[in-house]
Amino acid sequence: MALIVQKYGGTSVGNAERIAAVATKVIARQKNGDRLVVVLSARAGETDRLLGLSSEICRSPDPRELDVLLATGEQTSIALFCMAVKDMGFKAVSMTGYQAGITTDANFGQARINCIQTQSIIDRLQDGNIVVVAGFQGNDEEGNITTLGRGGSDTTAVALAAALGADVCEIYTDVEGVFTTDPNICSKARKLEKISYEEMLEMASMGAKVLHIRSVEFGMKYNVPIMVLSSFTDAPGTLVTQEDKDMEKVVVSGITYNKNEGRVTITNVPDQPGIAAKVFRPISEANINVDLIVQGGSASPGRADISFTVAKGSYEKTLEILNQVARELGDCKVSGDPGIAKISIIGLGMRSHSGVATKMFDTLSKENINIKMIATSEIKVSCIIDEKYTELAVRVLHDAFELDKNFETQGTVRVQEEKE
Ligand code: ADP
Ligand code: ASP
Ligand code: MG
Repeated sequence: MALIVQKYGGTSVGNAERIAAVATKVIARQKNGDRLVVVLSARAGETDRLLGLSSEICRSPDPRELDVLLATGEQTSIALFCMAVKDMGFKAVSMTGYQAGITTDANFGQARINCIQTQSIIDRLQDGNIVVVAGFQGNDEEGNITTLGRGGSDTTAVALAAALGADVCEIYTDVEGVFTTDPNICSKARKLEKISYEEMLEMASMGAKVLHIRSVEFGMKYNVPIMVLSSFTDAPGTLVTQEDKDMEKVVVSGITYNKNEGRVTITNVPDQPGIAAKVFRPISEANINVDLIVQGGSASPGRADISFTVAKGSYEKTLEILNQVARELGDCKVSGDPGIAKISIIGLGMRSHSGVATKMFDTLSKENINIKMIATSEIKVSCIIDEKYTELAVRVLHDAFELDKNFETQGTVRVQEEKE
């Protein structure tokens, strides 16, 4: 008798028909002898609709009250779903984050899970219920409702799977698994049979929203097998798992894009110790996360320019802070560009293979796409480009690295292919 945690995203439970289809799927699985914990997202568009309601009231809503509002989306889904299961003659019980024992920190809108008391879920499973938990929400030590950040239901599911010691966490969505790139923007995208936690973490961090970043962190830390599949078809999905020896043979396994960042620059700062700290301290004090950073020499001797990227939601605030820093330093200029995109190529094989970054730069230059910033890690190369070239860049890179071809199943590994 396996213990399975399943998560269904917004489109999977988007309307009454979909809820009934998912309920039938879940019941069939329980009849098979498995114990099931089902995590649900808000129905498609609901979280955005709730955000719209709050912005009709005020520009910057109180974060605690916003979380109370946003958590209702998932609560609606679990109630409707349990009604459907019960109407089909089976036992189900809905549980909010609080009832499911999910405790988080008090960082409203971006809360992190601190601990999960699983006893009430276990008791209800023992009574023969399908346990249906609201994703994306928990409560802090004082009992306030918190939410985990957009896309956070994946994290609820994997964290629950880890805490319950589930055999697998199945993430059901509107695509058939994890692809070499977003299948909705590149028709040649190929579904991967499996991917390592490490690569998936980079892909999620670099913009592949198919899994919430922190769900992959949980999976990796607690070694939870994560299966990504479609709730619309019975096609086999993608397994996110530990690295095996074949995985490193693939140089590039995925391409991601992220249009959700803006670039800011402060030019002509004094080139001396302590300046970077002076620029970035007020930004971190404002809880703004900085992504790529480039510092280089300025046109004037003894001066430097610093450019970096932040999430679009923090862009205006960052410019405000930088202008204040510029006033304090004197003689500096601040500028910004919100119309950028970050394109990244990711693959374990980069650890042992050279020339990958050059191939990326060559491919972009052939299309006359200018690279504004570059960052690398052991298994990733990212370039900042003009936002308008995003789809084109993804497609030409997908072709250049031949991601539509599955070399492993053909008995040829891409590393050898590259070396020829
Ligand atoms: P859900 O509502 O089920 O949580 P999301 O919209 O959050 O679904 O995530 C699924 C979407 O992720 C897909 O529709 C697809 O457009 C996007 N996506 C981006 N990159 C990838 C990728 N590499 N593989 C699969 N899907 C991807
Ligand atoms: N409903 C939330 C969102 O739209 C959480 C989720 O769907 O995972 O971001
Ligand atoms: Mg999602």
